[in-house]
Amino acid sequence: MKASLGMRPGASGDRSALAVHAGWLIDGSGGPARAHVRLLASEGVIRRIERMEAGGPAAAAGAVVDLSRCTVIPGLIDSHVHLTMSGDPDDAIRSRLREAPFETVRGMILANLQAHLRHGVVAVRDGGGARGNALRFARASRPHAAPAVRIRAAGRAWHRAGRYGGLIGRPPAAGMALAQAIRADAEKPDQVKIVNSGLNSLTEFGRRTAPQFDARELAAAVHAAREKGCPVMVHANGEAPVRAAVRAGCRSVEHGYFMGSDNLALMAERGVAWVPTAATMQAYAEIFERTGRSPDVARQTLDHQLDQIARARSAGVVVALGTDAGSPGVHHGAAVIAEMKLLLQAGFSIGEALRCAGVNGALLHGGREGLLAPGRPATFAAVPGDPGRLPESLACVQAVFIDGRLRFAAG
Ligand SMILES: [Zn+2]
Repeated sequence: MKASLGMRPGASGDRSALAVHAGWLIDGSGGPARAHVRLLASEGVIRRIERMEAGGPAAAAGAVVDLSRCTVIPGLIDSHVHLTMSGDPDDAIRSRLREAPFETVRGMILANLQAHLRHGVVAVRDGGGARGNALRFARASRPHAAPAVRIRAAGRAWHRAGRYGGLIGRPPAAGMALAQAIRADAEKPDQVKIVNSGLNSLTEFGRRTAPQFDARELAAAVHAAREKGCPVMVHANGEAPVRAAVRAGCRSVEHGYFMGSDNLALMAERGVAWVPTAATMQAYAEIFERTGRSPDVARQTLDHQLDQIARARSAGVVVALGTDAGSPGVHHGAAVIAEMKLLLQAGFSIGEALRCAGVNGALLHGGREGLLAPGRPATFAAVPGDPGRLPESLACVQAVFIDGRLRFAAG
């Protein structure tokens, strides 16, 4: 059977044998692209990846997918999104969305997931919302036609009363310690999100804020989360807030602006992942340029972050790609291209950047996607043209397969 890219999502051959003829393939291990590759899968799992000899025999039985003019890459993971928000910078729209009931934001979440899928993103990690609606969506049964993007959601984040965090969470009840609050929480999130610093200043370069919780409180909180089977992601900018989070045993540092080289070394040593969300700062700079505000501090902050990302790469820190999609000017799906470009700017190769968006994300997400190798899920995306067109070619993804099933096809 010869099935072209025209094969519809959910069409025949779903769980059966699949032979993909790829013009190029980047397997997500960090290495370069290989040309003329055949990927064989069955039951949703990759069985073999081999070089296609010119004029060689056609593949065995099953659907043949001709991606010979495409580059096949692992399905991507955006390790930091806010599904209930859009990237619209308009404050009125943003505050309305933030407080909207589940029924209202449900459509927004579905549209955001569709945008992710369209850009080759097969899994997202939600960093929290004021009403925990992304977690609620993740727990509810999805409509049959809904995008098959996997979600790991934090629900409502935790912050100290009176400090930053109300936009994405709540403080522990009065008189309750953070660890106690996590234990008593009836919500069962996929990961616990703790806010341990303020936001970055957009008017004063490098302004730091104090940690919201001290190292002991955070360590107790990580312990409480672990009892519930939840890893902890910590929003932290600045040396002291990041240090406390890393020492407490968090799984990942989110943002990590101005964390400094000592923290990077400590994270490399302890295997704590970093999700730098540099696209947010670039988006602020662009919004300010458009609206007549000075973009200088945002630009300077972005440059500083790119320098830290370069240091992280040298130090061997596990960097996972996360966009903070849903922040002002950071659009779901499309932001992955922006963040990937920034990783390249910081010195990552495209193969390495795809590893940040693949296996490194899967480490945080708990999945087995992100690497195209025998025994791994047949979860991949096809972008037009040769690998040199990445990451821009993610704007016109041709097909996305998840566990061997076609879940998105262009046109
Ligand atoms: Zn965020």
